[in-house]
Amino acid sequence: MEHQSSPTPHVLIFPLPLQGHVTPMLNLAELFCLANLKVTFLNTTHNHKRLTRYTNTEARFACYPGFRFKTVHDGLPDDHPRAGASNVKGWLKEMIQALASNGKSLLREILVGEKETEKVTCLVTDGWMSFANEVANEADVPVIAFRCPSACCNWTYFCIPKLIDAGEVPFKDDEEMDQLVKNAPGMDSFLRYRDLPSFCRNQDISSCRDLQDLFTGEIQRNQQAHSFILNTFVDLEGPILSLISSHCSKVYSIGPLHAHLKYRLGQNDDITLSNNSTSSLWEVDRSCISWLDLKPDKSVVYVSFGSLTILTKDQLMEFWAGLVQSKKYFLWVIRPNLIIGNDQDTQAQDGLLEGTKERGYMVGWVPQEEVLAHRAVGGFLTHSGWNSTLESIVAGVPMLCWPYFADQQVNSRFVSEVWRIGLDMKDTCDRTIVENMINDLMERKKDELERSMDRISHLAKRSISEGGSSYSNLNHLIEEIKLMSKKG
Ligand code: UDP
Repeated sequence: MEHQSSPTPHVLIFPLPLQGHVTPMLNLAELFCLANLKVTFLNTTHNHKRLTRYTNTEARFACYPGFRFKTVHDGLPDDHPRAGASNVKGWLKEMIQALASNGKSLLREILVGEKETEKVTCLVTDGWMSFANEVANEADVPVIAFRCPSACCNWTYFCIPKLIDAGEVPFKDDEEMDQLVKNAPGMDSFLRYRDLPSFCRNQDISSCRDLQDLFTGEIQRNQQAHSFILNTFVDLEGPILSLISSHCSKVYSIGPLHAHLKYRLGQNDDITLSNNSTSSLWEVDRSCISWLDLKPDKSVVYVSFGSLTILTKDQLMEFWAGLVQSKKYFLWVIRPNLIIGNDQDTQAQDGLLEGTKERGYMVGWVPQEEVLAHRAVGGFLTHSGWNSTLESIVAGVPMLCWPYFADQQVNSRFVSEVWRIGLDMKDTCDRTIVENMINDLMERKKDELERSMDRISHLAKRSISEGGSSYSNLNHLIEEIKLMSKKG
């Protein structure tokens, strides 16, 4: 019998141009390459320049003949700050709109494919960019929506229309913040108004409609996608994943992706695993590793608020004083655009400078996975971004959470109340509270937090190992894509 060889499936991956989205989607791209799929990764020109300047990404992907980068202009002027401005909802919307109006025609071109060999089997697009779904629908290319936040946050977004209908959202910042949310199934015994995504605060009903369109509208449009990919694992978010599954056709939880990629690279004899492989959009300062090398085991608090958080000068001073007063070693990432305003009357008192000289180290950007895995790191003061949370879980480092926006408010509640792998400091950063909670993290509550963290960290590693849930789900996803390709 004659066998016709099936065409190699070709996946187009299109992330939202933000660090926390580009990183996991590049990891997914490499996982697809390891399964011998063809991959086109559509990056914005702005981010691609940064990526090639600060990382070995091009070399990293050079060993996969089926991989290529394509770039699209993000539609914003060169001097636009892009992410990192204080009005988050404003720039996010502007960024998506500019990308939509600038990117649609190139996207259409790639999806249609000039040559038969370049035909795209499916589009894996960021869950925030439903404009890409529309283009794919027109081109008759199936869409798989990659939703970067946690399942618990995605589920909260699903619940927002219900919360608006029931009059629970909008709510005011100062009113009833500690009351439980009633119309969030699966979370009603612990989720407070305070823990809802930051955008639910201080809204009037018309901003609420905006909110509904920006978040929930995107989710609902995503529901028409062929399937969903979530960067999480069943042992962590099983009950919430079941709730999401009851609303969508197929959900593939295949995370934590960074660990999953490492595991599969380790299984592959042909590809060498590079320790320095990051997808950083900032220049990494490796001097922090030498600094950590000189510190005792689990003695350092690693402090980072991710790629988007903005601190006021007052908040900066409170964190700084709290860290110094805690008398713990600290490694703090002060990203170039972390602090709002640039007038330098941020005169640190002598005590702060001395304390920092003795026990602190500040850098612009670090190799975070490597830092978290360092034996000297004992705790992570984090903004509860989802990638950071997963990286901390895999490294087994308990967290002190200070969520800034969006999904982070939900994540930090799950970290502290459901998984019990950290403490939640949301809505305050008073220096005494910072000091006390760091001491809770590093001393008083250390043992109990470490016990739960060890358990969950073990489950994370099990899920991405052969036979684990994320490992099997990724195999199913790849089979599904191969099937799409056969069906043409
Ligand atoms: N990160 C890094 N070096 C730093 C700070 C952050 O490599 O100094 C990485 C971190 O490892 C994570 C990403 O930046 O993968 C931040 O993503 P996350 O979802 O945690 O937060 P976001 O930046 O989207 O708010």
